[in-house]
Amino acid sequence: MTIRDLIASAALADISLSHEEIKRYSRHLIMPEVGMTGQKRLKAASVLLIGAGGLGSPLAMYLAAAGVGRLGLVDYDTVDYSNLQRQIIHGTKDVGRLKLESAKERILDINPHVQVDTYAVPLTSANALELFAPYDIIIDGTDNFPTRYLTNDACVLLGKPNVYGSIFRFEGQASVFDAKEGPCYRCLFPEPPPPGLVPSCAEGGVLGVLPGTVGAIQATEAIKLILGVGEPLIGRLLLYDATTMSFDEVRLRKNPNCPICGENPTITELIDYEQFCGMPAHDHSEYGSGQTNGVPAITPVDLQRRLAAGDYLVILDVREPHEWEISNLADLGAVLIPKGQILEHLGELDTAKEIVVHCKMGGRSADVIRELQQHGYKKLLNLEGGINRWAREVDARLPVY
Ligand code: ZN
Repeated sequence: MTIRDLIASAALADISLSHEEIKRYSRHLIMPEVGMTGQKRLKAASVLLIGAGGLGSPLAMYLAAAGVGRLGLVDYDTVDYSNLQRQIIHGTKDVGRLKLESAKERILDINPHVQVDTYAVPLTSANALELFAPYDIIIDGTDNFPTRYLTNDACVLLGKPNVYGSIFRFEGQASVFDAKEGPCYRCLFPEPPPPGLVPSCAEGGVLGVLPGTVGAIQATEAIKLILGVGEPLIGRLLLYDATTMSFDEVRLRKNPNCPICGENPTITELIDYEQFCGMPAHDHSEYGSGQTNGVPAITPVDLQRRLAAGDYLVILDVREPHEWEISNLADLGAVLIPKGQILEHLGELDTAKEIVVHCKMGGRSADVIRELQQHGYKKLLNLEGGINRWAREVDARLPVY
């Protein structure tokens, strides 16, 4: 059964629109592609959004405004100042609140007819199937690989369409993975990239308006699936480049050997996605301590203690020069060598001393430590949580970015 059949088979006869709703949706109702039947389909439909952040903001607002009857939101993060540049469902007054609370308030202000279900939990292999089951469409609005593979696999196992979007700096991607009719995310990317190769938006940044564009594309695809009109992005990967303002498209084919949607699937239940991807499943800029697993680490408070005790430690900053301008540990004698140039500057490192490597949040510095370890360096420590955690826990004079 496709999503189209699912919603068509819903008892639309039991669904009616009040005079207020008819007025509210009048610009839809006069379109032949929507009309009364389409609007009732929207009202009968349910969509689960993973993440109430950059992509989740336009998704939730447009789907609510369009009259999707039931919206589920999964997110356990709180609103931070660093979210406001793009997460337009939240406002300055919401900083410190649960994102679910401010999102729900905004959604109900846009459209009080929407049923909003909130789940303030991390999405995991233990709860994904249960969370997804009541919804017609799942939309992944997160920014990390473990959640992306988990969402894909749970959707394939449940036979639900997964409206995919991803964003980074000036570039976006979107597709609809519906394994009954086309490829899934694993058909496209059977394996996750090595940890640290693809920076997250929290590490690499994202143009604030970009999730607006990509989230609006995802919302459009979800609405098309519900209405059963047009050609969905099934089997196509849309590539968007904001610098040239160009859209490109790659045809995707279903991989007959796909481990989950292929002819002989080897994955028949949800697995441990953090282990599979070798990285943690969170992308919260404020609290992500980065991928420190497997490398020796030191907390900011412990580093401060050791410096105060007179231990001589080299502090190596592996961020980019434009990040150094935002905040730096120059007072502590930090040396800046960006991650990509580290191998050319190996000779400058004092191997007799312990080296504390730091970046913004701890991810890039962990990569540099692994790289240095391969070159025989031993006395290396990763500053957990990076300079942002140092700013929060040790030196409030530094800004958090
Ligand atoms: Zn597949």
